[in-house]
Amino acid sequence: MLTASPRPSPVTPTIDLSAPGVQHGHLRLPYSRDDSAWGSVMIPICVVANGEGPTALLTGANHGDEYEGPAALFELARSLDPAEVSGRVIILPALNYPAFRAGTRTSPIDKGNMNRSFPGRPDGNVTEKIADYVTRHLVPLADIVLDFHSGGKTLDFLPYAAAHELPDKAQEARCFAAVAAFSAPYSMKMLEIDAVGMLDTTVEEMGKVFVTTELGGAGTASATSIGVARRGAGNLLRHAGILAGTPETAPTRWLDMPSADCFTFAGDDGLIVFEHDLGAPVRAGDVIVRVYPVGKTGLAPAEYRAAMDGVLAARHVPGLIKAGDCLSVLAVLREAP
Ligand SMILES: [Zn+2]
Repeated sequence: MLTASPRPSPVTPTIDLSAPGVQHGHLRLPYSRDDSAWGSVMIPICVVANGEGPTALLTGANHGDEYEGPAALFELARSLDPAEVSGRVIILPALNYPAFRAGTRTSPIDKGNMNRSFPGRPDGNVTEKIADYVTRHLVPLADIVLDFHSGGKTLDFLPYAAAHELPDKAQEARCFAAVAAFSAPYSMKMLEIDAVGMLDTTVEEMGKVFVTTELGGAGTASATSIGVARRGAGNLLRHAGILAGTPETAPTRWLDMPSADCFTFAGDDGLIVFEHDLGAPVRAGDVIVRVYPVGKTGLAPAEYRAAMDGVLAARHVPGLIKAGDCLSVLAVLREAP
């Protein structure tokens, strides 16, 4: 396992992260390349600070093709009045900035998947250097971290905020209280396929409150999903005491991913034909989706059935799939924690 090295980060912030008021600037990361010998990657950052209080770190576009986070956070950075703030809000609307500019999940520079690159390396590739700066210089400043995700170009999700089961039950309770405050239409106790390298894990291991989301996907964002993201960010800041007032709560349905049986992976290439839409209740044994061979007519589709009672929480997009792709995710309704 990689550990944070004492080597200094090559990233330089162009603003003073501890100054009061509103500052808009960049994290400047030297990146020497063909079209700019002494060039840099310039990652937008905003800090809004006023007086005593906690620090929140809000990040979007950890994956470059997920848009609710950037949509909510570019607006928040533009509109947040320091007079309303008690403490500090650090906003990075486009964390994997090269990926965000390319509209891709991973960085076009090094194919780095930001959320598989933590805790990062100061002497690694561009993506690892950004991750290292976040790990060693931003997360330690934060009391609460919100990292926006949605499904990107190849998945679509029910809109939910989520936290993980943690060994420290008091920390876990603080995380789920923050998820409840976010007040997305769904709230998930989330199981990861592979938690190694995630910002989630890095923040949680530092004992902080961490909230993630999956707010839609399919390579875009809707007015509804952006509304959920904006309200959720504001609610989290109220929950943390950084903004005055109480969270604007809305009804949420609590979901659990009790085991790896939640995930279905395609064993076949083909055309996906779903029997249910996101949010639909399914029973164990129901056909969720059929995958039709597309090379010729007359062939039967492969049928993929639910391994449990639940609701369809995520599905593959767009219409064709390859063997090994995540086809669907089920979740089960649960009591609020
Ligand atoms: Zn993501």
